[in-house]
Amino acid sequence: MAGKHNCQHAGCRACGHNRQTGTVTQVYKAVDQGIDSDSRFVAVCADHGSIIEANNLKDAHYLRAHPLDWCDGCREKFEGPADFLDT
Ligand SMILES: [Zn+2]
Ligand SMILES: [Zn+2]
Repeated sequence: MAGKHNCQHAGCRACGHNRQTGTVTQVYKAVDQGIDSDSRFVAVCADHGSIIEANNLKDAHYLRAHPLDWCDGCREKFEGPADFLDT
């Protein structure tokens, strides 16, 4: 699924264009992003600078694959402004 990882980002565990949004999403160890918390990994949307914490690598990879769940920039780009949603 992920294939080869050969980017130049320091500490980057995985990255690539997300198939849902077309943005570049990444997985880092939390400490490599200067995040001091219980979370060991983070998923990052490089296009929008959004970061979400994950308890483990599996969760981080899941979040990386689903930026629409946590990146406001992706949500806006993909689904339009929030008030467009009929809740
Ligand atoms: Zn990378
Ligand atoms: Zn995004």
